[in-house]
Amino acid sequence: AASDHNPRGNAARGWALHQAASDVIPGGVNSATRYVGHPYAFAGGDGAYVVDLDGNRYLDYHAAFGAILIGHNSPVVDDPVRAVVGTIDLFGLGVTELEVELATRITEVIPSAEMMIATMSGSEATAQAVRLARATTGRQLLVKFQGGFHGWHDAVARNVISAPELAYGRDPLSAGILDSALDSTLIAEFNDLGSVRALFEQYPERIAAVILEPIPHNVGALVPTQEFVDGLRTLTRDQGALLIFDEVITGFRHALGGYQEICGVDPDLTTFGKGMANGYPIGGLAGPRSLMERFDGQKGDVLLAGTFNGYAIGATAAIATIDHLRASPDFYTRTHALGERMRAGLASIVEEVGIQATVAGYGGVFSLYFTGGPIRGYRDLMRNDNQAYAAFHRRMTDAGFLMIPMSLKRNHISGAHTEDDVDRTLEAAREVLTGMKA
Ligand code: PLP
Repeated sequence: AASDHNPRGNAARGWALHQAASDVIPGGVNSATRYVGHPYAFAGGDGAYVVDLDGNRYLDYHAAFGAILIGHNSPVVDDPVRAVVGTIDLFGLGVTELEVELATRITEVIPSAEMMIATMSGSEATAQAVRLARATTGRQLLVKFQGGFHGWHDAVARNVISAPELAYGRDPLSAGILDSALDSTLIAEFNDLGSVRALFEQYPERIAAVILEPIPHNVGALVPTQEFVDGLRTLTRDQGALLIFDEVITGFRHALGGYQEICGVDPDLTTFGKGMANGYPIGGLAGPRSLMERFDGQKGDVLLAGTFNGYAIGATAAIATIDHLRASPDFYTRTHALGERMRAGLASIVEEVGIQATVAGYGGVFSLYFTGGPIRGYRDLMRNDNQAYAAFHRRMTDAGFLMIPMSLKRNHISGAHTEDDVDRTLEAAREVLTGMKA
């Protein structure tokens, strides 16, 4: 039973807090995916590590779903944040120097960005992107991919980790979503250009945009073929639809300019969030001037509003994160090399132990699927053995290695992880996988 699960050692204070939380917060958590059977209650974090209320220390690959990029409580970001607290808070009129600095940096580092707006979260950024796409094309439909996640709002909250019988069909993430919103979002298969082309044929001149995570990390790591991303660019352009790269996870993590810098494809719109400010809430939307000016309150016609948008702490944290990444190009060579070391190590353990599993990932991100490869799209993931993943996750957590609990997600190597951390993780994985095989 879930209640027997006792990672590392004691969980008494974690259980007590979870019980108290469950009285006053639905499910005991403020975001649905934070409780999946075991009551985590963290007290602090430092670099690559987190510690819970019961004093158990974990090497953290969860990284707050990827919001932690440089490392927990990094002074690189926290010091400038401390300096701004008590001076600049919130005014609700005009703009601060910080907001201009942030937008300027985004236009400097993101290939397709000429202008940027700041939001408070990734969901707000994708909501604005979809609205802007509808406004500029005068069309209503949106294409997303099975397995992609773009936030909680009606236009996108469907068909992420779908059961095989619901995949590609009508699979909302929530009750209470407008039928018209569900009907307006069409589902395609990642890495299958034909599935997107078929939708454009079925709904001529009705599709406003195609939105995708360039690497769908919400189901681990489906790495796109170059042909696929090039094909999406050409197809959307030919069909008069916008191409939206949701770089909420890939942005800043895989390259300073996001996955668009790596694949050389300029989307029309790009959304950001998560790692952009190393744990402080912020999101953003960027694109060419011609599109972004629709948000101009004087000349444009698309509403952009938000009391806290561009607030000083988030802007400061994002500026500090970007400046740190810019000043340390070895951040990417290091995290990518550690990711490679982890993936190669896991692959050889899988082979040696003789377990049915496939290692996936990109850069500092890695996933372990409990199914055979090759894995190109969601269709290949439907055979994944979720129970095997749950056992792997539980045993790794017991050994002090914190990963995202849901199968078909991913793990993150931050700027604070070391080669020794990776090697210790591999040792633990060898023991766990050997135990699972036995
Ligand atoms: N886009 C992607 C790719 C995400 O992974 C997420 C969150 O997991 C979002 C958008 C939504 O971001 P937020 O949770 O900040 O609203």
